Amino acid sequence: MSPLDRPQPKPGILDIAAYVPGREGAPGVAKVWKLSSNETPLGPSPAALEAIQAAGRHVELYPDGSATKLREAIAEAHGLNPANILCSNGSDELLGLLAQTYLKPGDEGVFSEHGFLVYRIQILAAGATPVVAKETDERADVDALLAVVTERTKIVFLANPNNPTGTYLPVDEVRRLRAGLPKHVLLVLDAAYAEYVRRNDYEAGIELVSSSDNVVMTRTFSKIYGLAGLRVGWMYAPTHVIDAVNRVRGPFNINALGIEAGAAAIRDKAHVEQAVAHNETWRVWLTEELTKLGLRVTPSIGNFLLIHFAEDDGKTAAEADTFLTARGFVLRRVTAYGFPNALRMTVGPEEANRGVVSALAEFLNG
Ligand SMILES: *Cc1c(COP(=O)(O)O)cnc(C)c1O
Repeated sequence: MSPLDRPQPKPGILDIAAYVPGREGAPGVAKVWKLSSNETPLGPSPAALEAIQAAGRHVELYPDGSATKLREAIAEAHGLNPANILCSNGSDELLGLLAQTYLKPGDEGVFSEHGFLVYRIQILAAGATPVVAKETDERADVDALLAVVTERTKIVFLANPNNPTGTYLPVDEVRRLRAGLPKHVLLVLDAAYAEYVRRNDYEAGIELVSSSDNVVMTRTFSKIYGLAGLRVGWMYAPTHVIDAVNRVRGPFNINALGIEAGAAAIRDKAHVEQAVAHNETWRVWLTEELTKLGLRVTPSIGNFLLIHFAEDDGKTAAEADTFLTARGFVLRRVTAYGFPNALRMTVGPEEANRGVVSALAEFLNG
């Protein structure tokens, strides 16, 4: 039977390279440290765990399709109008909903060279054309982004800070990007790691969304809040964007446990502070120790580090990955992000952080 005798995916779908999540295991190794998906070593807030247990007793009921309780908790935490918040099954779902809502075949979606892989996937899934802008020093470049924008561009995705580099654009640069975009282009600021950032020149995007008609900010409960397994994301957007995406999304796209857990998690500010403090301490320590070993580390403000390896035989990222995995340290290969010779490491618990540094010292001197 010819492949043409069966249903055909629409153009673009078979150009998608399916997303490959960070590995979980290390075959044959008893103790595994998963440092491949930027999850928090602190776990979720105890208040979120209690909320999940309570909500779990009534999963026969449909959730509140408009997630009012969660939107109100988010609004209160950030000083926003709940009507301008939309919740989702992880923020990945929002990236897809935005692409579906604003892109049609012939349109272009823009993102930067080492940007989050989900952007390309969702642009192609919407039948549109991905357009990549060069970065400078492993950081998004506003001039390069603006240079590829045409009248066909309908959406620009910017992760700030970016994954897997951990670099960021200061608020002035984000404003310059917005100011340079034609009014018909939607700027999506993906601030998945915003809670970890402690920089005076950084803003996740709230002010820019409030003062523009064409900017949205997406956020997640998967990273600092430790609820990745429940799939909870949200966006803050102008009313006309909320209205359009509300027509496209599934009626119950966020589940009942996610609504309750998210609302409890965002109120536990002490838990977030603890996670930030742990991350600051160990991100700085890891950067220093890895640099002392002679490895280049991209300066990161997130909860992960991009570690670059030499090209010599025996010392490449692929070989380091094999060496670390055999010792139970599971990091992330980032070839698909344009870094064939680097590994991304999530800042983990103390024992794992120390373990990786010792293992890499052994690897490099071996
Ligand atoms: C982890 C991550 C997300 C969040 O994904 P969820 O679907 O909310 O779990 C979004 N953007 C970037 C850049 C990320 O690294």
